[in-house]
Amino acid sequence: MKILMAASEAVPFAKTGGLADAVSALSLALARLGHDVRVVLPRYYCVDRDKLARLEGELGVPVGGGEEWSAVYTADLPGSSGKQAVKAYFIEHEKFFGRDGIYGIPSEPDFLDNPRRFIFFCRAVFQLCRKIGWIPDILHAHDWPAALAPVFLKFWERPLGQNAEFGKTGSVLTIHNLGYQGIYSKDNYYYTGMGWDVFYSAGFEDWDMMNFLKAGLYSADKINTVSPNYARETRMGAYGFRLDGALRYRGDDYTGILNGIDTGLWNPRKDKFIPRPYSAADMSGKAKAKEALQKEFGLPVDPSAPVIGMVTRLTEQKGVGELFGPAYGSAFSICRDMKLQLLLLGTGEAWCENEIKGLSSRLGNFKAKIGYDEKLSHLIEAGSDFFLMPSRYEPCGLNQMYSLAYGTLPIVRNTGGLADTVENFDQETGAGTGFVFDDLTPNAIYNTIGWAVWAWYNRREHIEAMRLRAMERDFSWEKSARKYLEIYESVKP
Ligand code: ADP
Repeated sequence: MKILMAASEAVPFAKTGGLADAVSALSLALARLGHDVRVVLPRYYCVDRDKLARLEGELGVPVGGGEEWSAVYTADLPGSSGKQAVKAYFIEHEKFFGRDGIYGIPSEPDFLDNPRRFIFFCRAVFQLCRKIGWIPDILHAHDWPAALAPVFLKFWERPLGQNAEFGKTGSVLTIHNLGYQGIYSKDNYYYTGMGWDVFYSAGFEDWDMMNFLKAGLYSADKINTVSPNYARETRMGAYGFRLDGALRYRGDDYTGILNGIDTGLWNPRKDKFIPRPYSAADMSGKAKAKEALQKEFGLPVDPSAPVIGMVTRLTEQKGVGELFGPAYGSAFSICRDMKLQLLLLGTGEAWCENEIKGLSSRLGNFKAKIGYDEKLSHLIEAGSDFFLMPSRYEPCGLNQMYSLAYGTLPIVRNTGGLADTVENFDQETGAGTGFVFDDLTPNAIYNTIGWAVWAWYNRREHIEAMRLRAMERDFSWEKSARKYLEIYESVKP
């Protein structure tokens, strides 16, 4: 199959979050299964042009009733080569993408011209295919910045007829986080070059604004999100970010496929960032990692104390209010009342960073590092006994899957991808791979950590068995890629 990924991010070229990892990893996994996969991205300044090759000539992209011209660069996606190479194409346009920042910069977090930047990008996708003489069977768009590609396909390209270039191309749109939709003044709509009839029939309309993601959701042949449970939850008002109605309307065309993890990078058997690799057959390296972790955080080196780790963005989505909120968060009483060690690596909202600093100076068994540190995040996954993720919502979540792979038992809220990946402990039978709670309240977090700590001290054989069970779980991208192929095959343009 010929598959074109259209996205605003892909590692290692441009990344602000998990979207970038997913786009590249999925592309590589599909290519390994024998498919012809290509990726198209804007060329921001963060993509080093010296490492790219320029295609001859330029693209003329019809937007806003006129035409914009763009150069195109290309490179192979690292991690692929030869017959299985995934070609990445970069759309260059100095006015739109010639700047630092993908969506914004600190002084302007959402660039004012973002609607026009991404309209232009989505329109350029088709001109690129024409230029390279390669028409995909599936156009797979990711998140709101690429969401207009399926709209252009349905309302501009396909009406040209079955025998026109894109007459047989199907489309898929993946939602990585429903919280970001691309909602802008409809004054920008003229830039698409499409009529006002399409504004309404394609579903752009959103309380007199223009909603990119919503139009994509109405127009793509199939849509999906990054876990089956998040696909169910987002059909409900509480999780739907006002698009639950649109998602219900799509019925069975809307499904969930769990993201995979990079098992080359996140693998206790060959992790370069931990003192000694380990596996289910020989767990001694995990004890070594725990010792190194306790030292790194300045906690007493004590194998008998349960260590609970966290690596997280410090934002409300991650449940940090219920843990660290002034006066109501339960982190203080958890550390005061229980024989455990709690440690955290994270950055985010200033109030939360301040609370955490204050708490760690008052408590002997809570230590935190404020910052972003890839290497340390590996040591936390390996060296902790438990990993805490009390998320408010979680489209998929990667950290709990890393934890399971490292035999570190997740303590998670029953939401999104967390619910799909962690099985709750059954203290009668010893079944499960972690500890799961329903309500996002300081009390529920307190009680569930208390339960895990109780099991640590009183049901050690269960904890050891759960670890081995967790390490057997398969979160490879190959498994997910096969599910995407099923969707691609079900698309009937
Ligand atoms: P989200 O994408 O919503 O932040 P995920 O669990 O899906 O949550 O992925 C977060 C990724 O970012 C993980 O790979 C995690 O290890 C990493 N991460 C988050 N904060 C930090 C940090 N402060 N230092 C190192 N890695 C971090």
